[in-house]
Amino acid sequence: MNSESMLARLDRYYHEQSISANDFKCKHLHACRSVCKPGEMVSLPEAYVGPQYEAKTLPRLLFVSSDTNAASWRKEYFTGWGSLMDIREDKLQHHKRAPANRHWGQTLNLAGALLAPFALKCLSKGIDQDKIVEYIAHANSTRCKDSSIKKGEGKEKMYLNCRGYIKDEVVVMQPDIIVTQGVRARGALKDVFPVIQHIAMPGYPETFWEIVQLEESHRALKIVAKHPCARGEHGWKSGEKKQFIEWATKSVQEFILGA
Ligand SMILES: [Zn+2]
Repeated sequence: MNSESMLARLDRYYHEQSISANDFKCKHLHACRSVCKPGEMVSLPEAYVGPQYEAKTLPRLLFVSSDTNAASWRKEYFTGWGSLMDIREDKLQHHKRAPANRHWGQTLNLAGALLAPFALKCLSKGIDQDKIVEYIAHANSTRCKDSSIKKGEGKEKMYLNCRGYIKDEVVVMQPDIIVTQGVRARGALKDVFPVIQHIAMPGYPETFWEIVQLEESHRALKIVAKHPCARGEHGWKSGEKKQFIEWATKSVQEFILGA
């Protein structure tokens, strides 16, 4: 049996690819920097892996975002901050909750709904709102960011450069459920794993799940959703989010219990 922990394996992967937070020498560094405001390109922190996610206390639930992280953490921390352990400490201390209308708040909310049936079954109780963060993981499809644009998405070229890393990152993270949030997160994981089955949410062909083969012995349910804060033409319609959460919760139960 492989005794290397998930965090150690992930850390090794980042170093092998030269994309670790404290020694970022990505092969696309210069290409990405050239499309950012001068002096404003930063590398993103590493993934967040909750302790109960790593322990697989419940089905492992991984969220994959695009690249809309604001680089506000830069002001508070030193250069090179953002290793796996930095992120875990930060999330467990400061990001147990978030306003319900914000990306992270919506992510925790969805996580709570998806995991609730398993918490009742495996832990014989629900999960406190403050504890949900321990059971999930979160990764980004991009590695670098033009910090001058705050929460906005960077140039497409950066996304095209960066997206190749997420596939193997996901394999190391061994999720049972993957939720992609937004167009770029969806694109970064499109057709990278063999698709066993594809089912759309009734009435919403752009929202769907796929059973994907991560490795020979491991399948995951990938749920492709809109960005939680999407508005306008491609945003959430009235009542759609509630319907989505119900549909996704049911789909996850069927996948895990039927596996
Ligand atoms: Zn890049």
